[in-house]
Amino acid sequence: MKFGGTSVASSEARQVAALRVISAKEQGFRPVVVISAIGRKGAPYATDTLIQLLREIDPKVEPDTRELDQIMACGEILSSVIFAQTLKTLGHPAQAFRGDQAGICTDGVYGDARIVAIEPAAIQKSLEAGYIPVICGFQGMLQLPGLPAGELTTLGRGGSDTTASAVGAALGSECVEIFTDVDGVKTCDPDSVPSAPTLNKVGYDEVAEIAHLGAKVLHPRAAEIAMKYSIPLWVKNTFSDLPGTEIVPGGHSERTITGIAHTGKLVYVDFNLSALSESLRTQIAASIFSVLAENNINLFMTNIGQSALGFAVPREQFPRFRELFDGLIYPEGNTFHLFQVGDQSSTLRAQENLLPKSAKKVRVEAKTTEGCTIVSVVGKQYLARAGVFFGILRTLAENSIPVLQTSDSEYSFSCLIPEAECYRAVRLLHETLGLSEVQ
Ligand code: ADP
Ligand code: MG
Repeated sequence: MKFGGTSVASSEARQVAALRVISAKEQGFRPVVVISAIGRKGAPYATDTLIQLLREIDPKVEPDTRELDQIMACGEILSSVIFAQTLKTLGHPAQAFRGDQAGICTDGVYGDARIVAIEPAAIQKSLEAGYIPVICGFQGMLQLPGLPAGELTTLGRGGSDTTASAVGAALGSECVEIFTDVDGVKTCDPDSVPSAPTLNKVGYDEVAEIAHLGAKVLHPRAAEIAMKYSIPLWVKNTFSDLPGTEIVPGGHSERTITGIAHTGKLVYVDFNLSALSESLRTQIAASIFSVLAENNINLFMTNIGQSALGFAVPREQFPRFRELFDGLIYPEGNTFHLFQVGDQSSTLRAQENLLPKSAKKVRVEAKTTEGCTIVSVVGKQYLARAGVFFGILRTLAENSIPVLQTSDSEYSFSCLIPEAECYRAVRLLHETLGLSEVQ
């Protein structure tokens, strides 16, 4: 049973959540709790507040990801102890566990680590001794051969869902329940369409897609892990007795369109490679992708063309992207390829001055478009039909919403649009695709 930030935001909320756990125990289950940090952005112990404590020392100096992880992990530690004590005061002994104590082993990618193994012995022992284990979500411990052991890591925003699925799989649980502040997975973000219906049943694959494309109700890896280990997964509202959304193996979704998702703010980057020979274009493109992968920069809408290479990066990662590429020099024989990101390159001139006067210099420019977002229609059955892309694009065009780029997969069709049009696009598509009606 995983409880998100709003589900543990106040002592009243924690009582409600704790009573759900106790009720499960009284029905004969042995519940294991995974907990997020207390409250949302702005709350005193929320993850964002903790990050702020570090950043405000000097906003110009970016903290190291290792230190960010150490401070962020404090939120769940606090929350787990408080929740365990809440259970205790209600007459049910509970034990709080940090990620490392719960045996959650990860790789070494601070800020976005992946779980590589779970050693659940301590949790099993706690259960056998009659306690309710309360595990810190979102955190783990680096455990890979050749890397320093015992380092604290975090799993990326929303990663407590992943902790819940992984712990559920490791313990062979009956099911994993994600408790949050909405009735389940809806046909779109209820912030855009408050009346958006809740899906009763949806496939793991479709929910993973909708999550990848920005619906933050569930972390995509949580769906993937539950699917891999065939653990029944639910999304439910802590504060209501509605049944919630059951996430099931593919092919059992009740709707042809799962829903509409939108990402956060993105910057679209478009490298102009037209001045390069074909073989050099391939080499440079490969180097760009390898630098991006090494630095864990998330890409959306990758588009490799004859003379250009484009993709969108999350706005928070854009400063890092610029740092990596602006002023970068790629030598090839006697020619130096100088990377320029955006119109105003600060580092390029300095770099250029370092090169010998006689050297041949070629600019590789990356045009950047800030303030973008991706709106996607998700639904495997729907996208298999003819003419659907046209229908989606027509809706946007008729409403004067410019589409800067598109991409599609078996499950989804995505449009890159100006961020200012995000909510309008979601509402329009939700309406024209008839998502408010029962299908
Ligand atoms: P928690 O702290 O419980 O993990 P999150 O904020 O991570 O909660 O996720 C729940 C929120 O996800 C909802 O409050 C809602 O605003 C948002 N959301 C976005 N898309 C959807 C969707 N398709 N269905 C339900 N909620 C969504
Ligand atoms: Mg969440």
